[in-house]
Amino acid sequence: MHEMSIVSGILDIAGNEARAAGARIINSVEIEVGELAGVEIPSLEFCFEVARRGTLAETADLVIHEIPGRGHCPDCDREVAMEYFMAVCPECGQALLEILQGRELRVRSINVD
Ligand SMILES: [Zn+2]
Repeated sequence: MHEMSIVSGILDIAGNEARAAGARIINSVEIEVGELAGVEIPSLEFCFEVARRGTLAETADLVIHEIPGRGHCPDCDREVAMEYFMAVCPECGQALLEILQGRELRVRSINVD
């Protein structure tokens, strides 16, 4: 499962940060997930519940910040909301939008004790 490998990456980052800080426990992990990142949030949450067992993040909350997709049309030079990875400009219908925002997939912060 695609989401499981993402979650292991997140837990690796959080675990390394926590150990570097000399922490005993991770209270929460905040991540940013773009609407166009191709990640299913419910699946990500489920994988986190499973994968955190036996790690410093065993009781951690996963806080997900969803970043809306934004695109730019090279034809009419407008900025528009973008819900799909491949989308045609809703304003002029001419061009494929360039992604400005929404592909994010990163750890924003972790909270440890
Ligand atoms: Zn356009």
